[in-house]
Amino acid sequence: MPDTFPTRWAPERRAPSSAWPQPPLLRALLRGALGRCPACGGAPLFAGWLRVREACPVCAAPLGRLRADDAPPYIVVFLVGHVVVGTQFALERYAGISIGAEIALLLPLTVGLALGLLRPVKGAVVGLMLRLGMLPEAARGG
Ligand SMILES: [Zn+2]
Repeated sequence: MPDTFPTRWAPERRAPSSAWPQPPLLRALLRGALGRCPACGGAPLFAGWLRVREACPVCAAPLGRLRADDAPPYIVVFLVGHVVVGTQFALERYAGISIGAEIALLLPLTVGLALGLLRPVKGAVVGLMLRLGMLPEAARGG
């Protein structure tokens, strides 16, 4: 049987180069969670409550091109759900308080945790995406 396949596909083995720094993964996650540019840490990541700035003024990382979309809310719901449901079960089992008192405790806890975690989680997701190179082709740089 003749070999009709022209060439075998080979994956790109070189790491993609970029014009901005590429810190280790954990550092990029922490910088993002702290609201700093995941690439250099030299400038704020956000240009509002949850709006990511278009580009880092220090290292020119294209932060605005990283589309975190629904990942941060999913992660926050997952985390807050576990904390609140676990707390509710513990209150039911050990505290013996009324349902009204449970609601009075758990409702502010839920809202506070959700609002408090959303920004750091979004920053960490943006840091993860930047570190993994999850950019549109045009924004990857040279
Ligand atoms: Zn930067």
